[in-house]
Amino acid sequence: MKFETKVIHAGITPDPSTGAVMTPVFQTSTFVQKSPGIHQGYEYARSQNPTRTALQNNLAALENGKYGIAFASGLAAMDGVIKLLKPGDEIIATNDLYGGSYRLLKQVFENFGIHTTFTDLSDTDNVRALITPQTRMLWVETPTNPLLNILDLESICSLAKDYELMTCVDNTFASPYLQNPLDFGADLVLHSATKYIGGHSDVVLGAVVVNDDELAERLTFIQNATGAVPGPQDCFLTIRGIKTLPLRMDRACENAAQIAEFLVEHEVVGDVFYPGLSHHPGHDLAKKQMKDFGGMVSFNLKDDSMEEAKRIMSRTRYFLLAESLGGVESLIGHPPSMTHGSIPRKERLAARLMDSTIRLSVGVEHIDDLMEDLGQALEARPGDK
Ligand SMILES: *Cc1c(COP(=O)(O)O)cnc(C)c1O
Repeated sequence: MKFETKVIHAGITPDPSTGAVMTPVFQTSTFVQKSPGIHQGYEYARSQNPTRTALQNNLAALENGKYGIAFASGLAAMDGVIKLLKPGDEIIATNDLYGGSYRLLKQVFENFGIHTTFTDLSDTDNVRALITPQTRMLWVETPTNPLLNILDLESICSLAKDYELMTCVDNTFASPYLQNPLDFGADLVLHSATKYIGGHSDVVLGAVVVNDDELAERLTFIQNATGAVPGPQDCFLTIRGIKTLPLRMDRACENAAQIAEFLVEHEVVGDVFYPGLSHHPGHDLAKKQMKDFGGMVSFNLKDDSMEEAKRIMSRTRYFLLAESLGGVESLIGHPPSMTHGSIPRKERLAARLMDSTIRLSVGVEHIDDLMEDLGQALEARPGDK
């Protein structure tokens, strides 16, 4: 089945009791049993819910995996994955990652004796040197957030195999339409479905997809035992959002590519980070492992001023100033003070995340309106209203 068909049909069957084409919202906490232990596969809604099952099966198919496990948020999914480990175990993670992921590893799991080393995962010699007998997992994000660096999935996964480490890839930025890490040898793929998968900025949800039976069993156990499950309404909204993922993503990629070209030419703009630009250091790699270059574009100002960046961001009309990404509407954000506020400035600058870094989540509006909006915001001079 092709991806465009999978988003609509994989794991989704008309409701057998009524013929409803859309998966119903099974808003129930429990399910009746004929006699103790004799039921129809559903006992209690933390353990299983039919709306969630449909979503999980669909997500598994989209990532070319066998099992999908949905959680209450992307970070709840990550929390579930890290709970596969135990005190004393170590993680090696990319140093250019989602701020909340950094916070969870550093400020929560460190307290439980699970230590994470953050490093540049594109340097495999460097990674090899950091591996200890306690290392269990590599934590990968590509494209990275917010600088859109591209990591080589195939080489990272093969290195992990040499040392019997698990690889978990946070695939939120690419979405399963553009990139499928399991195909490159990853053990786990994680999504904040809040972003492109849901796609309409109306739901918070997370998911993990795996191929391995034992890993799936352990994650399902953790999902049920710790309880951070998504409600049926959120599962329904996510199923509905997924159906248009390829359509939305095609348009977002097309718009983002044009905006990146526009920014490169602009006089107040410094570096532009977009893997679709031929001078982007990850361009060839992105071509190899992604279907297209995505809808995220970041840039710095020539004058690296936080004030100036903030002034520009408060002047856009269609690009809404908000955290998050991946919805149909374009968003503009300032990672240093918003999503990445929890990363100390020194570490931030070392990872080339400057004071003036602006991140765009390019939506599916008409490109002319988006260009006009950005243009007027960038051209404004201090004192302009
Ligand atoms: C948003 C995000 C997360 C966290 O997901 P939530 O659904 O907000 O909990 C994790 N990774 C990346 C790359 C994200 O953008």
